[in-house]
Order: sequence, then C-alpha cells, then structure tokens
Amino acid sequence: MAEKFEVIIIGGGPGGYVAAIRAAQLGLKTACIDMYVGKDGKASPGGTCLNVGCIPSKALLDSSKHFHHLQHDFGAHGISVSDAGIDVATMIARKDGVVKKLTGGVSQLLKGNKVTFFHGKGQLKSGRQVEITPADGSAAVQLQADHVILAAGSVPIQIPNVEFDGEFIVDNVGALEFESVPETLGVIGAGVIGLELGSVWNRLGSKVTLLEALPDFLAMADRDVARQAAREFKKQKLDIRLGTLVKGAEVKKGKVEVIVEDGKGESRQAFDRLLVSVGRKPYTEGLLAADSGVRLNDRGQIEVNEQSKTTAPGVWAIGDCVRGPMLAHKASEEGIAVAELIAGKPAHIHFDTVPWVVYTDPEIAWVGKTEQELEAAGVDYRSGSFPFAANGRALAGGQGSGLVKMLADAESDEILGVHIFGANASELISECVVAMEFQGSSEDLARIVHAHPTLSEAVHEAALHLDGRAIHRGN
Ligand code: FAD
Ligand code: NAD
Repeated sequence: MAEKFEVIIIGGGPGGYVAAIRAAQLGLKTACIDMYVGKDGKASPGGTCLNVGCIPSKALLDSSKHFHHLQHDFGAHGISVSDAGIDVATMIARKDGVVKKLTGGVSQLLKGNKVTFFHGKGQLKSGRQVEITPADGSAAVQLQADHVILAAGSVPIQIPNVEFDGEFIVDNVGALEFESVPETLGVIGAGVIGLELGSVWNRLGSKVTLLEALPDFLAMADRDVARQAAREFKKQKLDIRLGTLVKGAEVKKGKVEVIVEDGKGESRQAFDRLLVSVGRKPYTEGLLAADSGVRLNDRGQIEVNEQSKTTAPGVWAIGDCVRGPMLAHKASEEGIAVAELIAGKPAHIHFDTVPWVVYTDPEIAWVGKTEQELEAAGVDYRSGSFPFAANGRALAGGQGSGLVKMLADAESDEILGVHIFGANASELISECVVAMEFQGSSEDLARIVHAHPTLSEAVHEAALHLDGRAIHRGN
C-alpha cells in the first residue's frame, strides 16, 4: 500500500526544501522528493540555486573579484604584488566545496526536521498520488498525500540553431565549470546570468562580448541605474552589443562561430566559448500524469491563484515553475506561505516588495517600481538621489561609483521604489524593503539615525534629497 504523508513536495530547491522544513515544523508528516544528482553522483538537494545557480556563481564572483582587485586596485593602497596568477582548478574546487557544504547542510536540515527525503523523480497522478522513480534504479515507490506542493524549478531556454554541447556552447552549468580561462567568451543575452558569469571570466582575463537582442540595456532596471551601470561595465571592458540578434552558432575547428544580425546586417564572429543566457523556462517534464488535473498556462508555467493553489484540489505550486520573478528568495517565501496555509494559518506574500539584486561590481539592487514604470502608470511621484562619490565610507574604500535613487508618492510620500547601483547594494536594499513593507515614507527613512561612516548614509541622503534637504550634495 502507498505510504501516506500529509504533505509531499516534489522538488528540493529553495522553494521545495524550505516548504518541507516549514511544513515539518508545523507538525505535518512531510516528504520531499528531489532528483538532482551532484558531481559525486549522490543526492544533492538545494536545486538550481545551491548546485548551479546563486551559490556557485557567487563563489566564482568572489574569487574573480579578489583576483581583479589584486591586479588593478591594490596599487592605489601602496600594495605591490608581482606574478599574480589564477589557478582555475583550485577556484572551481573551492566553489564545489562551498556547494557540497551547503547541499549537505540541506540534507541535515531535512533529517533534523524529520522530513522523509526521496532521491528520485516524482510524478503527480490523480487524487494526489505520487509515483517516485528512484535515482538508484530500484522499483518505483507509490505515495499518497493530503497536499502536494510542486516545486520543480526551471531550466535554461535554448534558442533555435544554437545547440548546447556542454563544451563549446554552454548554459550556466557549463560556464561554472570552464577548466581554463577562455581567451574569448561570447555571451548571448546581457541579462542577469550574462552579466554575472560574463563578469567572472572577464575579471580573469577573458575578452567577453555580450550579444543582446533588445535595444535597451537592463530594460527591467531603473533607467538611471541602467545608464550608470552600462558606463561602468564599459570601463571594465565588457563589450555589450545591444540590438544584436543571434541567428545561429556552429562549432568549427575548436571555435564557436556565431551568426549575428544587427543594424549593419548579418555578420559572423568567432569565440573560444559561447554562453547562452537568454532566460529560463519552467521545468515540468514528466512531472504531471495526464490525469493529474494540474493545468499549465500558455507560457508553460503551472497555473496558480494568488495563494499558489493549482487547478487540482490540494495541489499547490511555487518557485520558478509558476508566475512571478525567478528568484530563490521568492521561491522560499512562497514555500513558507503555502506550508502555513496548509496548516490553517494566515499567510501571504507581498510581490511588490520582492528585492532584485545583480551581483556585478558594483552591485545593482532594487525594490518596487522604476521611474519609467511610474511614468507609464501616470503616478505623481517625487525623486531623490545621492551619489556614492559623495559618501565618505565609499571613498575610503575606493568604491565611489554609483548612486541611490528613491521614488515616493508626491502626495502621501509613501516609498514606491528604491534603486541602488553601488558597493554592497545587495545588503543596503534590505532597509528599503523593510520601509516599503511597512508602507514607510521617505520622511521615515530621513528621520532614522544612520551610523557614520557607512554606505547606508547614501540611502539616508537620497531620502533627504527627495525633500530638497540633502546635506552632502546640492538640492
Ligand atoms: P530549483 O532551484 O530549480 O529546484 C527545483 C528542484 O526540483 C531541482 O533540484 C530539480 O532537479 C528538482 N525537480 C524537478 N522536477 C522534479 C521531479 N519531477 N521530481 C523530483 N525532483 C524534481 N536567484 C536569486 O534569488 N539570487 C541569485 O543570486 C541567483 N543566482 C542565479 C544564478 C544562476 C546561474 C542561475 C541559473 C539562477 C540564479 N538564481 C538566483 C535563480 C534561482 O536559482 C532560482 O530562482 C531558484 O533556484 C528557484 O527555486 P525553485 O525551488 O523554484 O527551483
Ligand atoms: P534574463 O531574463 O535575465 O536575461 C536574458 C536576456 O537575454 C534578456 O536581456 C533578453 O533580452 C536577452 N535575449 C533573449 N533572447 C535573445 C536572443 N535570441 N539573442 C540575444 N539576446 C536575447 O535571463 P538569464 O540571464 O538567463 O537569467 C534567468 C533568470 O534567472 C533571471 O531572470 C533571474 O530570474 C534568475 N537569475 C537571478 C540572479 C540574481 O538574482 N542575481 C542571477 C542569475 C539568474
């Protein structure tokens, strides 16, 4: 007979494993099924994020940042270094060690919370029956649940005539595993992955060219931030070509030849490696039996309502496989909310205050609306900003690029969006998220004491500037 659980979660990424832990904390008998196979051939829960996404990319971003600073920035501090070198194998092994530690930590957390973990592929059938095909090839396992949470994540989008081969033409997985620094790297898509992984190899000495179809750089970011970031990345020698459509790519004599079409017509360009990062799509292959009752929408996402309920009773879906931004923290918060709803508690997520961070150097972070979105919606707003070039701590640390920009409702002064391009933007944005979550005003942030000297004073000054009373810049 099928073993019975109160909650079964299919997918052990930041959506699934977090939902499992919260469900178990709430006293529900919980199982989590994940099929990911780590580099050692064993189960490796944590999904894209821990295995081939957020964490390994940040490990390489940090390694490459050290190397770049060593070569380009230490001289200004009077520190001289000769014979700086990079051992790519050591860098990759360090990254793998970080991944192993964290995925092992997830296994321990699941065990510690008494979540039953299955390593294999789960499929939802009618009536919340779940069939597992175990990763070790053993016989299928049948389970039955009161509630099922689908958290199957996403996979890279492939474009026509550009076939991944895992060596020359790669996705994020391949670009986290290069054995040496490619002399030239082509990147299709100047979005989040293109900028982050492009930065890694650029800092290590690769000549990186980003081929972006859209005419605008970072169209989803605030235009002032995007403009400053484009200028800064150009200085860093990232070659970003806008309005450039890739028509195809082929491997010839150890090089990738890319066919592009831009304002000047069609041309070919050769690279040593090509990263394709043109977005991701929900992964639902083999997840749903024909009679599961779960519907997909026309974008291939699992259809859910505002509470993450699918079209099948007792079946929920979260994370990258449903609508909304494809971000780890969004997936995790949805997982917690769904576990709490299942346990009969009130829960909801405020999608308007989900922060975004791009881990370039300097970092880009924002929450809420951009200025162009407010204009398009006809909202009457006021704007304030402050450059890091006028912030003492930023200058002391040699981090004077970028700005903080704050947008607030012209009448109520409620903060509608904050956009940061600068050092530690990923951390600075949290204060703004809290303020927005509490429906705070720019006046609230302007009246809060910020420690001196800190980068957070730039947030304070942007709030003051919004009211024409910044201290360290003209108003
Ligand atoms: P996933 O993490 O994709 O996990 C889904 C899991 O389910 C996987 O392990 C998969 O193997 C498993 N699975 C799928 N189908 C089945 C099945 N039928 N049975 C069993 N198991 C199944 N986001 C951020 O917020 N910050 C970042 O810095 C960031 N950096 C990123 C960098 C890169 C290179 C990439 C690719 C992504 C990055 N992301 C980042 C996005 C982030 O990784 C995703 O938003 C997040 O992992 C989504 O979580 P999830 O739980 O929905 O899905
Ligand atoms: P993306 O949506 O960020 O960027 C894709 C880019 O490719 C876009 O600018 C798009 O215009 C361009 N593009 C699409 N088709 C093209 C074509 N044929 N030729 C040239 N350009 C083309 O997608 P991504 O960088 O692949 O990342 C996927 C998702 O993963 C992100 O949207 C994000 O949700 C998540 N992610 C988040 C982080 C983070 O939070 N720091 C980091 C990496 C990934």
